[in-house]
Amino acid sequence: MSNDNRLTGSHLINGQWVAAGTKTFQGENPATGEKLSPQFGEAGKAEVNAALSAAGGAFEAAFDLPHGWQAKLLDAIAARIMDLGDALLERGEQETALPRARLAGERGRTCGQLKMFADLVREGSWVDAVIDTADPNRTPAPKPDLRRMLRARGPVVVFGASNFPFAFSVCGGDTASALAAGCPVVVKAHPSHPGTSEMFAAAVLAALKELSLPLGLFSMLQGRSNELGAALVKHPATTAVGFTGSNRGGRALFDLAAARPTPIPVYAEMGSLNPLVILPEAIAERGEAIAKGLAGSVLLGGGQFCTKPGVVFVVGEAGRSFIDTLSKQIAATASVTMLNKPLRDSFVSRTGEFAHVNDVKSVLTSQAGGYAEASPALLETTCNVWLREQKLREEAFGPATLVIRCTDIQEAVNGVKTIGGALTGTLHVGANDTRESITAITRALESIAGRVIVNGYPTGVEVNHAIVHGGPYPATTDPGTTSVGSAAIRRFTRLIAYQDAPQSILPPELKDDNPLKIARCINGGPTRDAIAVATGSSH
Ligand code: NAP
Repeated sequence: MSNDNRLTGSHLINGQWVAAGTKTFQGENPATGEKLSPQFGEAGKAEVNAALSAAGGAFEAAFDLPHGWQAKLLDAIAARIMDLGDALLERGEQETALPRARLAGERGRTCGQLKMFADLVREGSWVDAVIDTADPNRTPAPKPDLRRMLRARGPVVVFGASNFPFAFSVCGGDTASALAAGCPVVVKAHPSHPGTSEMFAAAVLAALKELSLPLGLFSMLQGRSNELGAALVKHPATTAVGFTGSNRGGRALFDLAAARPTPIPVYAEMGSLNPLVILPEAIAERGEAIAKGLAGSVLLGGGQFCTKPGVVFVVGEAGRSFIDTLSKQIAATASVTMLNKPLRDSFVSRTGEFAHVNDVKSVLTSQAGGYAEASPALLETTCNVWLREQKLREEAFGPATLVIRCTDIQEAVNGVKTIGGALTGTLHVGANDTRESITAITRALESIAGRVIVNGYPTGVEVNHAIVHGGPYPATTDPGTTSVGSAAIRRFTRLIAYQDAPQSILPPELKDDNPLKIARCINGGPTRDAIAVATGSSH
């Protein structure tokens, strides 16, 4: 971004705005189809090399920075984002058609997660320091002194998604957690919001300059070719990838990373069906209220949330009248402007394909309108059809859900288990539902979901220390991790142990006197104490 705050269409590489790329593209207003200035260049191999070699250099240089530099950087980025003011919200609205209020909320979340990681780094215990002190008198062999902790992995490539132009994008959770761990970041900006991306990159550059930090710690490349993403993942300096987006994209990049001479992890957070199960007594007690809450969750953000409940299992005869109520609630929303035209087209065509599956009833059929508008869809079928038709298990990203009528609990359990992996699983229970039914459904949801919700709705993800935004494949490529919340930092680290290392070599987190006063595990027990007795490792 130029000094007078005008967009340049350039890439940010090692502190320089680089106007490279013979091919160009423009942002587009999904509400009108209007092309938005300026033209953005498509980055190629030269820009990938420049960004990643700068990231490699910055990673080395960061070892000499004062302890906790990441916290200052993250706080400064949050402050510089707020300095962008209404111009950021205006451009975001133009590029995504998301309402101003939603974007203001998302900006709050984005800055909030940057500050959460800053606090985490300042407190310091996230490194998970574990120490087993030496015992020279152990027989038959003396026990060595061993100390382990998490350390930064190296340069990280981040791919943001179109549906969260702030919170899962240039300065989103992946970038925040990678920088917090001490990893330089190279972002592949999403081509659906290139201007918004440039503004965020400018905020990071301002923060780096203000703190005199190595400028290679952050670069951002624009482009809309799969070759660009592939080149970033295949570059030898890349040590990990954070991806948020479609299953198709996440899986393609995961396979590329696994096929590298040196494979690297791709933490891909992808689309998800997010099953919601309603037990018979819950419908009897509060069917209308559940229908209203469910419709709100399906339609929130135009149904363009990875946590949208995409499949609903209703158990028992009352399921039929529940579908009528749900249909009235959903039909009250005429149509939504989607994030971009290709997403709208694929939503309308996918829900149309579902409606053509034998024995699937289209209760509400999605119609395309405007430039990128779609009306909501509601589909209904039985559990036998759900179990039979693999096609129905694909994500319809947009304002739609599929209701499965189940005759009993066992059908719902079987139906949930076919999903394989989801970000969330939700259960609605009534006071008179049996303990056996609740246990059976809970176990089924636990086996496939990263977060189990009781009597609530999956959209609206808290950002804190306990949240899990992950789950078994195909929701993510690593169910041991989360992309939201403080635990996301672990993805961009590796474990390192020091054996019989003198105090002068050990990082501060592992020194006897615990100068950072962090929580550590010493000889099997948690403590913030120093190691009182000098061990064999002290020199
Ligand atoms: P997308 O089309 O997969 O795009 C994500 C990024 O990956 C873009 O930069 C895209 O660039 C790149 N990309 C996609 N396929 C690629 C390939 N084969 N090779 C190289 N790069 C590739 O996803 P989206 O449309 O932005 O987002 C919608 C999806 O994200 C939905 O499925 C939604 O459920 C999911 N989502 C998941 C989460 C989560 O936390 N799990 C959060 C938000 C959204 P190009 O466009 O230039 O190819």
